Amino acid sequence: MPIILRAHHLLCFLGFRGAGYSKEFVENFERVYKSVYLENLPIKIVSFPDEICRCCPNLAATECKFEQKVKKYDAKVVELLKFYGLSDLENVLPSEAYSALKKVLPHQLESICRTCEWFALGFCKESFYRKDLWKNG
Ligand code: SF4
Ligand code: SF4
Repeated sequence: MPIILRAHHLLCFLGFRGAGYSKEFVENFERVYKSVYLENLPIKIVSFPDEICRCCPNLAATECKFEQKVKKYDAKVVELLKFYGLSDLENVLPSEAYSALKKVLPHQLESICRTCEWFALGFCKESFYRKDLWKNG
């Protein structure tokens, strides 16, 4: 079974520096990061709470506290993935998704999530300008 992953979390992996909302959140994030970003295990790209949200203190019942905002991030990432050739998001190799995202200009990626509280730290923005977004992409 593919790992369920919110679309915008593909971007969050790029700037991950071990920080997060809680100890449990970070441990879980690292586990999913390893499976998806490092091991390239198949994912299903969605726009609802996922394997990462599962351990997030911001998950209230079935939705993120910021669901309306993060759904917009997801929608923009999905739009870009489809524009750059990913038609089926049900069972995708992360390397395929990052291959598509590498074609997106860094400032377009920035514009997706500049309203996120983590954006001001600079890690995410910096990662969008890296040439090696994904080693297999
Ligand atoms: S700014 Fe927020 S949404 Fe965007 S990649 Fe970073 S942590 Fe994820
Ligand atoms: S802030 Fe919301 S979208 Fe982000 S990990 Fe937590 S529950 Fe998921």
